[in-house]
Amino acid sequence: MIDLSSKSALVTGGGRGIGKEIAMALAKAGCDVAISDIDLQTAQATASELEGLGRKSLAIKGDVSNAADVEAMFASFIEKFGKIDILVNNAGITRDGLLVRMKEADWDLVLNVNLKSAFLCCREAARPMMKARGGKIINIASVVGLMGNAGQANYSASKAGLIGLTKTLAREFASRSINVNAVAPGFIRTAMTDKLTDAEKGKLTGQIPMQTLGSPLDVANAVLFLSSSLSDYITGQVLTVDGGLVM
Ligand code: NAP
Repeated sequence: MIDLSSKSALVTGGGRGIGKEIAMALAKAGCDVAISDIDLQTAQATASELEGLGRKSLAIKGDVSNAADVEAMFASFIEKFGKIDILVNNAGITRDGLLVRMKEADWDLVLNVNLKSAFLCCREAARPMMKARGGKIINIASVVGLMGNAGQANYSASKAGLIGLTKTLAREFASRSINVNAVAPGFIRTAMTDKLTDAEKGKLTGQIPMQTLGSPLDVANAVLFLSSSLSDYITGQVLTVDGGLVM
């Protein structure tokens, strides 16, 4: 059984969806968990649920693509928890469209929220983790960062960039016992995939060897493993959680 008691974690975009499930899984394993989200109400609702499990929690409002917000977010986190053991860069958005019609603003927004955010958060987490000579960073990428996806040039590029960032930081931090890994979910049942039509969902499941969409808990379980000492000798890896879609 995974025991994360006495550990503290920050999950970005943890108010709902996959991030919320990750926060719940970490808290169930004994971890104190802060939630940052662009929407304070959803963050507060999740933080109350985490406290209901008997853990310390904190809801932090902030835009992860904004350097000042990220600095303030880490300052409140460290003030409350004193240290950071686990960082999960989960916040992410889509603004889909074929390249020829893609607006520059949609390219910039997706790259900023999905990729620049991870750079900013890793930069803030690095110093306290290095000082502590340990830590776990998990970046939530996507299978489309590995295989591409028509209509998602901005999103696929941001997730491929996140994988490059993961491997580079794994090399930079390895000597300080800080593990940096990515989880690449396939098609998971959340608000993001609820937008698809039944026909689109049917077409997608047809491509998945396991013939079904995944659940947020499937992703959370992978993050839980990468947050624990069970993965101490694993760094710079991309763990796909996709029913066999990419292999
Ligand atoms: P989701 O339900 O839309 O949740 C994303 C969360 O991030 C929301 O709570 C959202 O807040 C927050 N957020 C958005 N922009 C933010 C910002 N600038 N600063 C701080 N928080 C922000 O998405 P999800 O499906 O759970 O996805 C979570 C992660 O998994 C994302 O990185 C996504 O790319 C990745 N992923 C998802 C799938 C899938 O099938 N769902 C597949 C592969 C990868 P609001 O609620 O206020 O907007």
